[in-house]
Amino acid sequence: MGSWSSLERELEQLKQEGRYRPISVWESGSDTWMTIGGRRVLQMSSNNYLGLTNHPDMKAAAIAAIEQYGVGSGSVRTITGTLSIHDQLERELAAFKGTEAALVFQSGFTTNQGVMTILGPDDVVISDELNHASIIDGIRLTKAQRRIYAHKDMDQLEAVLRECGGFAKRLVVTDGVFSMDGDIAPLPAIVELAEKYDAIVYVDDAHASGVLGRNGKGSTDHFGLTGRVHIQVGTLSKAVGAVGGYVAGDQVLKDFLIQKARPFLFSTSQPPSVAASCLAAIRVLKQSGELMEQLWANAGYFRTKVQELGFDTGASETPIVPVIVGEPARAMRFSDLLLQEGVFAQGIVYPTVAMDKGRVRFIVTAKHTRDDLDHALGALEHAGRQLGLL
Ligand SMILES: *Cc1c(COP(=O)(O)O)cnc(C)c1O
Repeated sequence: MGSWSSLERELEQLKQEGRYRPISVWESGSDTWMTIGGRRVLQMSSNNYLGLTNHPDMKAAAIAAIEQYGVGSGSVRTITGTLSIHDQLERELAAFKGTEAALVFQSGFTTNQGVMTILGPDDVVISDELNHASIIDGIRLTKAQRRIYAHKDMDQLEAVLRECGGFAKRLVVTDGVFSMDGDIAPLPAIVELAEKYDAIVYVDDAHASGVLGRNGKGSTDHFGLTGRVHIQVGTLSKAVGAVGGYVAGDQVLKDFLIQKARPFLFSTSQPPSVAASCLAAIRVLKQSGELMEQLWANAGYFRTKVQELGFDTGASETPIVPVIVGEPARAMRFSDLLLQEGVFAQGIVYPTVAMDKGRVRFIVTAKHTRDDLDHALGALEHAGRQLGLL
């Protein structure tokens, strides 16, 4: 078909640059070992930090909710799509996060699109250059002015804040844990600057929910900043093990978003089974002390060993451990070699990361055993030598 020729050209170019990514089709559910092409491989790329995708309480809650409510909510939240299970989930999320209120969306992605609705043409949004795509897209949907600061550069952030005194609202937005590098945002410094320059602080804790803070309450709790961060976005899709997103904050924020946030108003709410699983997950998180300890012990062990092998793990300080190898084709080749060794770790390349910062990203979970991690380290060493990285 002639009209697709420009698409075909772009696809061809991606293939030439080694950036074309076919999707992997898995024959088993999310777990530490998964089946692909009839082969069992060690999974080191999922966001299933605590192994909750298979938690018996969450499965039982989903099944019970299907029996009680059916499989779909039937509507957007503002018509007939708010069931008591959604309401209960929001109450328990707010209590868990220590905020007045919480509002649930269909995903973390749509949460960011929705929350940015608070910005109008007289406002400015100030964003870390490495913030997640859903924050960037959320910002693009607003009429607010935009400023970008270099990654975690607090001097630049202060300079921007100083210049932005004339705007009605100043909003500083950051990932809590940066998804490609696994480093943590300097939230205490951001909060101090925001207080000095009268700005709103917005943290997206997608990779911090269930990972950082007491029982996985997130980066605000981790830094002891409860009450000083105005907007905490979290996801229910990663460590929480199901799918969905939420914002935790003041009641007035929730009230406003219910009236204005377009993903909330114009897209059907979470199925009741999903809301029920998420509710069960919060109860699991409240008793997650040992799981959290295991997660961080595994992450520390793996990162140290990867570094000892001689690899570059960049700024990693969380269970996200990138192994940075350079140009896109090299990163994809490294990922392929690891899969031949029985280890799945996703290659991540431009434009998700800089052209010369292609990497294979490992995500360690609480459910990986020491043997699993040693197996991955063996594969890394072997593949690294084959590729001339070591
Ligand atoms: C994954 C991610 C999201 C999207 O969350 P979903 O629930 O998967 O839509 C949003 N923000 C950040 C920082 C993320 O890493």
